[in-house]
Amino acid sequence: MKLLEERIRQEGIVKSGSVLKVDSFINHQMDVLFFDKMGAEFKRLYADAPINKILTIEASGIGIAIIAGLHFGVPVVFAKKSRSSNISDDVYHTVIHSYTHNNDNNVIVSREYLSPEDHLLIIDDFLANGCAMEGLIDLAHQAGATVEGLGIAVEKGFQKGGDKLRQEGYRVESLAIIESMDAATGEIVFREQD
Ligand code: 5GP
Repeated sequence: MKLLEERIRQEGIVKSGSVLKVDSFINHQMDVLFFDKMGAEFKRLYADAPINKILTIEASGIGIAIIAGLHFGVPVVFAKKSRSSNISDDVYHTVIHSYTHNNDNNVIVSREYLSPEDHLLIIDDFLANGCAMEGLIDLAHQAGATVEGLGIAVEKGFQKGGDKLRQEGYRVESLAIIESMDAATGEIVFREQD
């Protein structure tokens, strides 16, 4: 999505540790009209898929997922980070390592909101090593739901998550894929996509 690449070029800040900050329109201030364009693009990419629910993880996936939910006309479920280590039986549970905070989180979804009838689009803002996506896929599988595909705003293609998930057979649609980025110069190179 050329518009997203341009926006990242204009406003993205490359930090050390291979972190891209896009706080001005995604991760702190949210440009909802831009989210609307991203939601429309996810809908265009997945027009052929029988998606009846969107799954994401708190917190930064929620905004994009909600607007995508409007385009698909389906409910959005967000997996919650649980502060309690006492996990009840009425939830699906997994552990996800956080790339940005470098810690492990217990993540849960109530059994009420995922079932074998669900055909899921799993959405997140970033894809790096794939821990968040693998965790959400685990929750979907525990519920017997079908993963129709993954929708990512920004994939860092130089990290291993995207390749691994594609090799596992998942459909991964990323609106922008960063091939390389340099914290010293701020230079960002995007992968050509059709
Ligand atoms: P992964 O689990 O794929 O290693 O990392 C993806 C998760 O970490 C996303 O949920 C996202 O919130 C966060 N993340 C990973 N890399 C970046 C980054 O470069 N910038 C921002 N803002 N978040 C990132």
